[in-house]
Amino acid sequence: MRELSRRNLLAATTVVGATTAFSAAASTVQLGNPDRPPEGAVNVSNPQALTEPGPQNRILADQIPAAGNPPATDVNGMPMFWSSFNLAHKRIQDGGWARQVTQSDFQISEDVSGVNMRLGPGGVRELHWHQQAEWAVMVDGKCRVTVLDAEGRPAVRDVTAGDLWYFPAGLPHSLQGLGPSGAEFVLVFDNGRASEYNTLLLSDWMIHTPPEVLAENFNLPVSAFQNMSLDARWIYQGAEPPPLAEVQRQVASPLGEPELEFVFSTSKMAPTKQTRSGSVKIVDTRNFPVSTTIAAGIVTIKPGGLRELHWHPNADEWQYWVQGTGRMTVFNTGPAAVTMDFHAGDIGYVKKGLGHYIQNTGSTDIIMVETFKDKQFAEVTLSQWLANSPRQMVAETLKMDPRLIEQISKSRPDVVPG
Ligand code: MN
Ligand code: MN
Repeated sequence: MRELSRRNLLAATTVVGATTAFSAAASTVQLGNPDRPPEGAVNVSNPQALTEPGPQNRILADQIPAAGNPPATDVNGMPMFWSSFNLAHKRIQDGGWARQVTQSDFQISEDVSGVNMRLGPGGVRELHWHQQAEWAVMVDGKCRVTVLDAEGRPAVRDVTAGDLWYFPAGLPHSLQGLGPSGAEFVLVFDNGRASEYNTLLLSDWMIHTPPEVLAENFNLPVSAFQNMSLDARWIYQGAEPPPLAEVQRQVASPLGEPELEFVFSTSKMAPTKQTRSGSVKIVDTRNFPVSTTIAAGIVTIKPGGLRELHWHPNADEWQYWVQGTGRMTVFNTGPAAVTMDFHAGDIGYVKKGLGHYIQNTGSTDIIMVETFKDKQFAEVTLSQWLANSPRQMVAETLKMDPRLIEQISKSRPDVVPG
C-alpha cells in the first residue's frame, strides 16, 4: 500500500508540466522536509522531544550547530568527517611546537595525516627523514627548508606564507623558523597513519651507533662524537642562520641541485578558476611536478558564495581551513547526507567519490586548502553533468521543466554564483 505523503501529492500536482504548475508548486513545496524517511526536526510533533535536558558542552555545541540541529535534508549518519588541530595535544620543546591529527585520532583520514607546526625565530625541526612524502603549506612567517635528493644533490630555500614544499618519501630534510617572527605551517603526509613523532632523526641514529663505527664511517676521530646529547633533538632552539646565499654556497654540490624544484609559490600564480564569488588555484604535477603524490586546490569562497556540488573521482579530499566560517554537507549512498560547520584551524575529510558542497556562512572570505593523494586534481561537478546530459532524461528524472535545465551552465564555475 502506498502512503499519500506530502511529496507524493506534490508529484501529482507538478506532473501536469505547465509552467504555472511549477511556480505554484515552488510556493507550497517545503524542500527539506523529507517525510520519507521521517527524519529531522520538522517531523517532531511534540517540541519537548527536541530539547536537550542533559549536560551539554555548550562551547563545542556552539561551534558546530549543524551537528545538533541538522538541516531537514540531512538523513542518516556517516563516519565523522570533522576534526580540528585545536583538539590535538601540543608537543612543545625549546624552539617551537607541533600537534597532529592522524588516523589514530580521526578514523576517516586514511590517505593522509596532518601536522600543524610552529618554529620560532631560529627554531629548528632537526634533520630527519621518513617513509612517507611530506607536502606543506606555509601559514605564517618565514622558514628555511633544506633537502637532499637520492642523487646527492642538495637544495636550500626560504619560503613565506602561501608557499608550498614537497619532499618525496625518504629524502632527508630540515626546517628552521627565520626572523623576525619565525614560521608556522601545516604538513600533510601521504599516509593517514604517519606521525610527526616517529620520524627518523639524525640525532637518534647517531646516538644509537657505536662511536667507533661513526669514526670509521666519517673518517673522523672517536672524540668528534663525545658531546652528542643522549636525547633526540626533534625541535630545538638554534642560532639565527647565515643569509640564504651563504648557506647555498656552503652546501653547493658539483652535482648541482635536484632536477625538480621542491618549493612552489602560490601567491605568484593566477587562479585556475575565478568567479565573482571566489577562486580556485590548482597545484599538482602539471605545475608542481615534484609533488607526485599530493595534488592541492587552494579555494577562496566569498561571503554568500557556494563551492558548488561536486565530487572527486580519484582520491579522498583532506581539507585544512585557513580562514572563515562555512558549512559542508557530504552525500553518500544509503542515502546519507550530513552537514558540519567549519572554522579556521579545522580539518575536513571527504572520501573519494562522495558528493559535497560548502556554503560560506560567515562575513569574511573562506580560505581552504584541499589536498588529494594523487598526482592530479580531478573533479566532477553536478551542474556540468546535468548541463551535458540528455535534457529529456534529466527532466524525467528530476521532474523539472526542460527549459530550466537548458539554463544550467555547461562551464564549471567551481564557486557560485558565477
Ligand atoms: Mn619531515
Ligand atoms: Mn571537493
